[in-house]
Amino acid sequence: MIALANQKGGVGKTTTAVNLATALASERRVLLIDLDPQGNASTGLGVQRLDRSVGSYAMLIDGAPLDYVAQETRVPNLSLIPADPDLAGAEVELVGRPNRERSLRDCLTSAEDALRGYDYIFLDCPPSLGLLTVNALVAAGSVLVPLQCEFYALEGVSQIVQTIERVRHALNPSLAMEGIVLTMFDRRNNLSEAVAADVRGYFGDKVFETVIPRNIRVSEAPSHGLPVTLYDFRSPGAQAYVKLAVELLRRERSKRAAAVRSPAA
Ligand code: ADP
Ligand code: MG
Repeated sequence: MIALANQKGGVGKTTTAVNLATALASERRVLLIDLDPQGNASTGLGVQRLDRSVGSYAMLIDGAPLDYVAQETRVPNLSLIPADPDLAGAEVELVGRPNRERSLRDCLTSAEDALRGYDYIFLDCPPSLGLLTVNALVAAGSVLVPLQCEFYALEGVSQIVQTIERVRHALNPSLAMEGIVLTMFDRRNNLSEAVAADVRGYFGDKVFETVIPRNIRVSEAPSHGLPVTLYDFRSPGAQAYVKLAVELLRRERSKRAAAVRSPAA
């Protein structure tokens, strides 16, 4: 289970959630859970508001079963738990609960049987470090941080890294850093190159080799309710997300191989 988190808005969390999930769905069974009250991942997959009456809020707050709130999408092998309209109130309602940080994990633990049907689960987080994001970090096995190549990128990332550390200490010791994905990279802009070099210098191989270019097709696709690979497979953006999925699978294979070589680690 991978959470896409970064407290900054507009850095490519949702775009990466939708398009990476879609690219992986060509080989794996994938579930995407929309945890952002704005519901952009739901819109991006063409799920109309009328079809979102039950979703992550119903599961998280009302205890609706996962099977009931998950729906198939137009992408084969990709299911979605949409953001229902009530999700905007979830943070406030969670505050009063004794398991306020663990509610999502508790839900998903009790849905273990249904979850066995999926190889990958992505959690699309809202642009804040509030309770919904904390719930995602507590439930997830790892975090993928999309980072836009702009001037303040490194400062922003240190905040999410601190939050990950805090969650790891207090609530979810096995939370791993899946990595950082550089998004909206602009080859013609020297700043993009400089930021990318800085981030790689600092985070080393935690940064995915695959870089997502700024590409108009990526930003057009959601208005058609389509992932970019279905909207324009040949576009540089679509190709980058396919590459990112391949790299993610390759990284997982080499992590597993390393774990077999040194079981204690
Ligand atoms: P977040 O979920 O972090 O708030 P989004 O994924 O919604 O960010 O992206 C913010 C905006 O940038 C959206 O309008 C999206 O279409 C656009 N965008 C994201 N990635 C790209 C890209 N690679 N090229 C062009 N536009 C992009
Ligand atoms: Mg978003």
